[in-house]
Amino acid sequence: EAKSQGKNTYHFYSQELNTIAKARIEIEQDLLHAIEHDELELYFQPKVDSRGPLLVGFEALLRWTSKKRGFVSPAEFIPIAEQSNLILKVGDWVLEKAAQFVHESKQNVVVSVNLSAKQFESGHLVMNLNNVITKYGIDPTLLEVEITESSLMRDVEGAIKQLEDIKTLGINISIDDFGTGYSSLSYLKRLPVSTLKIDRSFIKDTPSDKSDVEITSAIIAMATQLGLEVIAEGAETKDQVEFLASQNCFFIQGYFYSKPLPKNDAIVWTPEING
Ligand code: C2E
Ligand code: MG
Ligand code: MG
Ligand code: MG
Repeated sequence: EAKSQGKNTYHFYSQELNTIAKARIEIEQDLLHAIEHDELELYFQPKVDSRGPLLVGFEALLRWTSKKRGFVSPAEFIPIAEQSNLILKVGDWVLEKAAQFVHESKQNVVVSVNLSAKQFESGHLVMNLNNVITKYGIDPTLLEVEITESSLMRDVEGAIKQLEDIKTLGINISIDDFGTGYSSLSYLKRLPVSTLKIDRSFIKDTPSDKSDVEITSAIIAMATQLGLEVIAEGAETKDQVEFLASQNCFFIQGYFYSKPLPKNDAIVWTPEING
């Protein structure tokens, strides 16, 4: 009885896995097609200093509108791309377009790109960053990279070495989704990063949720203590922006100011008009 059940279970799972694997391979193929047929677009979400309000930068965010699938969220296709080397192709495309945006934009603000662990492990990251900086003749301090704690954990020493090389190029480094990983303070102190970006999950229910208020305040205090900049991700309301300001966090990225925008809208965006 148990045995036959086990057998059925096995068949069930293997069929499920097969379906999942097939779906994954199909997305990979479509994504490759997307890169080659111009289905990808880079959007730019403003980062604002709430004291102005003043535009201080943009985060570059991938958008994929597939002829076949319609809009596909990066939360869906990035993890799949990360399971193969496809993320390297996607990542290079993103770096190229972000550098091009810095070159074309007259706003003189920092543009950040998200990096995957695989890009770190490729051994080409620093060279690729240097290449796009040279190609577009941009000021490297106008480029920033966002990395998650977990993407650094796989090889801490190797990661620190590369971050130092990136910093040497003049590029700023920001820890994305901060608070969702498990960096210890002593580890954090060793990283040559300039900014902590508080994850949206902590911001979402401020200022009404007491524990989120405490966590957010603690992260801001810690960043300040470590001499790091701090930015809040996903602020949607005036109350949240005011709460963050009361805790001395003035850099804000969120729908309160703007959603991610196509390049041509981003290039003319100002918080005075839109915020
Ligand atoms: P992330 O890097 O943490 O990016 C922030 C996400 O929060 C974006 O989602 C952004 O649109 C969303 N967001 C910003 N403000 C608000 C807000 O006020 N409310 C709400 N509800 N959402 C807000 P998006 O664009 O869907 O990207 C999801 C994730 O996909 C990113 O999270 C990042 O991890 C990944 N991703 C996007 N583009 C790239 C890329 O070019 N390369 C890599 N490696 N990953 C990327
Ligand atoms: Mg990010
Ligand atoms: Mg984030
Ligand atoms: Mg996030």
